[in-house]
Amino acid sequence: MNLHEYQAKEVFRDYGIPVPAGRVAASPDEAAAAAAALGGAVWVVKAQVHAGGRGKAGGVKLARDVAAVRAAAADMLGRRLVTPQTTAEGLPISRVYVEAGSDIAREIYLSLTLNREKSRVALIASSAGGMDIEEVAHQTPEKILSVTVHPAAGLQAHQAREIAFGLGLRAEQVGAFQALASALYRLYMEKDLSLVEVNPLIVTKGGALMALDAKINGGRLSTISTTSPSTATSPAWSTAPGSPWRPWTSSSCMAVSRRTSSTWGAVRPPSA
Ligand code: ADP
Ligand code: MG
Repeated sequence: MNLHEYQAKEVFRDYGIPVPAGRVAASPDEAAAAAAALGGAVWVVKAQVHAGGRGKAGGVKLARDVAAVRAAAADMLGRRLVTPQTTAEGLPISRVYVEAGSDIAREIYLSLTLNREKSRVALIASSAGGMDIEEVAHQTPEKILSVTVHPAAGLQAHQAREIAFGLGLRAEQVGAFQALASALYRLYMEKDLSLVEVNPLIVTKGGALMALDAKINGGRLSTISTTSPSTATSPAWSTAPGSPWRPWTSSSCMAVSRRTSSTWGAVRPPSA
């Protein structure tokens, strides 16, 4: 179960995780109608493909009127999008997501995944949101925060607070962060996910937290039973000398690297 962003955001909504209002569209006319129905003055048109890195590849476009929404959708639909996380052929864009544009004060990275070395779910966060986590881990590993969750206890309020303070969130945002992290954890467990990633989680100029991107990869149990250790590859940064963050060994990261190849498969040495 790998979902498109618009589908993952539906799931987020079900779990009470704040996301911008948005509508999916399969034609320029539908995109224009979606923008009109959403209202507001700024929209973002986002290519729905199973890969990240869309922003820098022309797959996320800001539009300030309905005509610009239509034009952005016309430009994307029917084409293929090539990002650092796709092959050179790219992926076909058959749908776009038209979303209300958010006023971004800051971008944060947040994810839940299995730390197989510890056999525990890890909540991972970084103040360097919007960037590839591999790149952050490689270049500025000190910017990555993580806690592992005891399965019987679940994600504890003090753990979420620790991450929130580490991110430098203001006191009034800590409660919202805690609620959001708990909801993500509940989603991760109930849906048997291997990864849930919010990159970026934003703080709006009004001080609210909102998931601006959403990635859900499923099948923790099925992944474990169908993945062969011999195919395992280790993310380059996870073994970087001096890296304080080494959640996966080469033998323990296979499920993650297999199930989330669009993210973790993009890992390359910095010279590549
Ligand atoms: P990807 O990870 O594939 O590049 P994102 O959904 O993370 O795609 O979008 C890339 C960037 O575009 C975000 O980091 C954010 O700066 C901007 N962006 C995405 N959605 C919105 C939105 N609804 N409002 C304002 N900016 C957005
Ligand atoms: Mg993103």
